[in-house]
Amino acid sequence: MQKSLEIAVVGSGLVGSLLAIYLKKAGHTVHVYDRSPDIRQINFSGRSINLAMSHRGWKALDGVGVADAVREIAIPMDKRALHMVDKINFQLYGKDNESIFSISRGELNRKMIDLAEEAGAEFFFDQKVWDVTLAEATLHIGEEERGEWKSVKYDMVFGADGAFSRIRHRMQRQSMFNYSQEFLETGYKELHIPANADGSHKLDKNSFHIWPRGEYMLIALPNTDGSFTCTIFMPFEGENSFASLTDRKSVAAFFEKNLPDTIDVIPNLTEDFFKNPTSTLVTMKCYPWTFEDKVALIGDACHALVPFYGQGMNAGFEDISVLNEFMEEFGDDWETIFSEYQKSRKPNADAIAELSYRNLMEMSSSTADEKFLLRKKIEKLFSEKHPEKWQPLYSRVTFSHRSYAEALAIGDKQEEIMDEVMNMPNIKDNWDKIEVQDKILALIHQSTLNHD
Ligand SMILES: Cc1cc2nc3c(=O)[nH]c(=O)nc-3n(C[C@H](O)[C@H](O)[C@H](O)COP(=O)(O)OP(=O)(O)OC[C@H]3O[C@@H](n4cnc5c(N)ncnc54)[C@H](O)[C@@H]3O)c2cc1C
Repeated sequence: MQKSLEIAVVGSGLVGSLLAIYLKKAGHTVHVYDRSPDIRQINFSGRSINLAMSHRGWKALDGVGVADAVREIAIPMDKRALHMVDKINFQLYGKDNESIFSISRGELNRKMIDLAEEAGAEFFFDQKVWDVTLAEATLHIGEEERGEWKSVKYDMVFGADGAFSRIRHRMQRQSMFNYSQEFLETGYKELHIPANADGSHKLDKNSFHIWPRGEYMLIALPNTDGSFTCTIFMPFEGENSFASLTDRKSVAAFFEKNLPDTIDVIPNLTEDFFKNPTSTLVTMKCYPWTFEDKVALIGDACHALVPFYGQGMNAGFEDISVLNEFMEEFGDDWETIFSEYQKSRKPNADAIAELSYRNLMEMSSSTADEKFLLRKKIEKLFSEKHPEKWQPLYSRVTFSHRSYAEALAIGDKQEEIMDEVMNMPNIKDNWDKIEVQDKILALIHQSTLNHD
């Protein structure tokens, strides 16, 4: 327990509500503000995207004993199902049934708010926070940006208000505050595969479905009600783009030609396509993340990622685990807690931003490429034979608690080794021969790859 403080968390999203539970358990009074209505009272109309929860997310939920409640609404996915034009290939994600878990964002958020309320946090909805006085941890809240505001003072404020954070906005106006934001030229749109009449799933329930098509791709994740939430990612402009799909006829023709096995399972394709918004994807980086012992940013508010590694929420949850470790280590010395927190998380946030960006290519193109698949087969065989010497990058990111920065650095070295292996004569026929294993061992030895 720490000395009890009055703490405001701005944002009742996934990160804000989990953080509220941690802060309550540490002995604080916690008020959570959100500009939106209580999503438990309305028909959830935000992004209903499913999220893939992996090890880092589960660890943070376990840390306050709420993981089992979340497991009830999660579906394990132990493999990718790659829908080529003429066949489906299945690829296991890890070993021993290692899985990522599909969870509906809306359902998870509702559950997290319930759990935070049960823990004793107080929620204030329909409260737009427009500004914060950093040195006094005072929030300024009102209906309109140019209208009347009320001011509420706290001992400390956390900005968990997402990629376009107002709390960060105020911090940006200090000198020596670094900030960058980069939009992808690829956007996304949601589509829907309903359940069968008997409530069963129309596609394999325990797979993350991908239709990799190079510059664009479709993905589908299972829901507990038998449906799938699909997302099509494609460029805004160009030949195969949102701009080129202007009417129902062109959308239907595009799907029939390029994604033929979706026609039967997405009955409302053209209606959904024009009804659902096309959204943008942004990478946002900034530093510092904290102001004295008064204000700290957490989750998307300090590191928004593109979603291709399925790690945005997981990384935000890991921020909380790490913050909590420093709370336990440094007691009531919040200046040190904040300083260690931001120093420890920033390189990892940058690493997962880079990995997420790179994974767009891997998901949309490489998964359909024979050479890439051969590479993965060789890596898998080697890592099965020498698990202590080789953990594939995807597993390091998804099924481990080692740092993202380490995963990126080791992944780059592994990439160099695999480039050499792929240049071996007749590698296509010899991929499972002992000389390939020996070559990898020799290259590892030379590269001083750290395999602890
Ligand atoms: C298409 C897509 C797929 C994704 N898939 C995955 C995945 O598979 N796995 C994964 O780990 N991550 C995934 N992510 C990332 C994940 O959604 C985010 O990282 C996560 O939602 C961040 O949570 P957060 O609580 O920090 O921010 P948010 O979820 O953005 O919540 C911010 C909250 O703050 C409130 N707020 C904002 N401004 C104010 C204000 N001024 N005053 C008061 N309240 C305010 C908002 O209403 C909101 O409730 C995906 C993201 C996208 C876009």
